[in-house]
Amino acid sequence: MTQKVTVVDHPLVQHKLTLMRDRNTPTAVFRQLLREISLLLAYEVLRDLETTLHSIETPLAEMEAPILKGKKLCFVSILRAGNGLLDGMLDLVPSARVGHIGLYRDPDTLAAVEYYLKLPEGMEDREVVAVDPMLATGNSSAAAIQRLKEHGARKIRLACLLAAPEGVEAFQAAHPDVAIFTAAIDSHLNDHGYIVPGLGDAGDRMYGTK
Ligand code: URA
Repeated sequence: MTQKVTVVDHPLVQHKLTLMRDRNTPTAVFRQLLREISLLLAYEVLRDLETTLHSIETPLAEMEAPILKGKKLCFVSILRAGNGLLDGMLDLVPSARVGHIGLYRDPDTLAAVEYYLKLPEGMEDREVVAVDPMLATGNSSAAAIQRLKEHGARKIRLACLLAAPEGVEAFQAAHPDVAIFTAAIDSHLNDHGYIVPGLGDAGDRMYGTK
């Protein structure tokens, strides 16, 4: 069964996304907004994390209260733009382990080419959240997930900021078992593989490299 796509349409997310789309938004503000949105996305992405009961004493009474079960969560940033989503998610779950996958898009073929991979041990037992702001062609996200699976990961979800319908379709065809969370699904991809209307190149806008 193909996992669903969840569009996180909370007004705060949509407001911040509009500011990010605006070409006049400066780099530092763009980065800050991405961090803030990632907190709100994480809230939805991690909604079904398992909890276990833990004995504590409040100032008034003893109680069994829920805490997160284990420390098995792993965020995997798909470089370089993934780091913008990663930071906010780590603010929320500081104990999570972190992996990185470096991929760039071949400008001619738009295929994903891997240049870096570092993952924590025990991927087979971890809940994995891969983060990549732009699900455009779907090539790099699908390639990253393929690598995670080759390293044993079984429970994976993908968090992004913006998706193109073409990217969602391609990604779901490659990985029907991976649920997608995004703040919006835009109109289409242009001939250069950019999401329209989109927000431009997420990495360049985060780091001011263009
Ligand atoms: N990557 C980006 O940063 N932006 C797009 O629109 C597509 C891919």
